[in-house]
Amino acid sequence: MFKYRIPTILQLVFNKYTWKVKTNDKQLFLTFDDGPHPTITPWVLAQLKAYEAKATFFCVGHNVQKYPETYCHILSEGHQIGNHTFHHLKGWANENETYFADIEKAEELIKSNLFRPPYGRIKPSQANYLKKKFRIIMWDHLSCDYEKDLNISFCLNQMKKVKNGSIIVFHDSEKSFENLKQILPPLLDFYKSKGYQLLSIPQK
Ligand SMILES: [Zn+2]
Repeated sequence: MFKYRIPTILQLVFNKYTWKVKTNDKQLFLTFDDGPHPTITPWVLAQLKAYEAKATFFCVGHNVQKYPETYCHILSEGHQIGNHTFHHLKGWANENETYFADIEKAEELIKSNLFRPPYGRIKPSQANYLKKKFRIIMWDHLSCDYEKDLNISFCLNQMKKVKNGSIIVFHDSEKSFENLKQILPPLLDFYKSKGYQLLSIPQK
């Protein structure tokens, strides 16, 4: 279904964004948005550790400020971090100046040249400006773990249709946790059984 998997044609049209990591190797790139959260993020970190997986956490600056220990925990486990604005702003709904200032505020805490726009919503003028400084990381697989009545088996099937270099979105947030608990362990198991390496997105 469209919302779970981004069609290649869209990826080609919007080519200023990174939808997948270019690689011929069996590598996948798991990403976790909206944290850090003081109990959910450590749960995610433990899952990743059990599968020797590395991931990328697109953190909200406000949450980094509230939970600095959890943020340091992510870094100490060797994962990558990215900027997800300070107040989780939607690019489409904000003036460029407001949007950029919020990202800069997050940058004081989150040292990374990876950026993911909240909701995936960003104006072309914002993207053109930000791409001078950041790699703008979208995704080709979205778990929709934030949905209230997520069809778990359908979601798992969609998330299993990954390719080399796929970028997969999850959320370390309260809204998503009930679903995340049900989808993350079996997916980690599946990806590993298929011989994929699970890696952080490089900052280059
Ligand atoms: Zn978000």
